[in-house]
Amino acid sequence: MLSNQLQAVSTFTEEGNSEPFSLPALPYSYEALEPHFDKLTMEIHYTKHHQAYVTNLNKAVDGTKMAKWSLEEILSTVSKYPLAVRNNAGGHYNHTFFWNILADNAGDSPRGRLAAAIARKFTSFEAFKEEFAKAGLSRFGSGWAWLIMNEKKDLQIVSSPNQDNPLMDLAEVKGIPLLGLDVWEHAYYLKYQNKRADYITAFWRVLNWREVEKKFESIPQ
Ligand code: MN
Repeated sequence: MLSNQLQAVSTFTEEGNSEPFSLPALPYSYEALEPHFDKLTMEIHYTKHHQAYVTNLNKAVDGTKMAKWSLEEILSTVSKYPLAVRNNAGGHYNHTFFWNILADNAGDSPRGRLAAAIARKFTSFEAFKEEFAKAGLSRFGSGWAWLIMNEKKDLQIVSSPNQDNPLMDLAEVKGIPLLGLDVWEHAYYLKYQNKRADYITAFWRVLNWREVEKKFESIPQ
């Protein structure tokens, strides 16, 4: 893996106080996921899009009790707050999640208990990938596809609009995200243009199943 040349970007108010939320360091360089996810898309996606969600989340929670809350606390009650909180807390959570499940030298397949659970639920890993791709392709406009552990402790593929996610109290299906795919055009348009299906195929080549397994294993059975 290429050494990480990126620093966490902390932002400070004029008084020198740290903002409640900051852009986390990418765990790899911008070019690490080439040729599947290209360097320019990664750089813009991280430094412009993700940064904007962080900046706008800090603005949206400024002077409210949410400034002291964790992202998860905000998401679990987000229906009570303005749309700017929903969009930007979701955007910050979703992108942080996404960067952490990607890696170079990745793209194999799940192992162990997760592999067994996927095979049980979807009949095979191939069938799972097909159903997940369908969720990403059929999400009209901007949004995300997810594999979650739902409230019945069952694996389920869902999709969400915009920057919503399954941790939000207003989600159609709630659960713990195990893997998520950004299907906004900003995630793929420079390299794949209108071909979202090709981008989804490329995603499997950079998905780090070891991270997905860790999330699965951390959920009490
Ligand atoms: Mn994005």
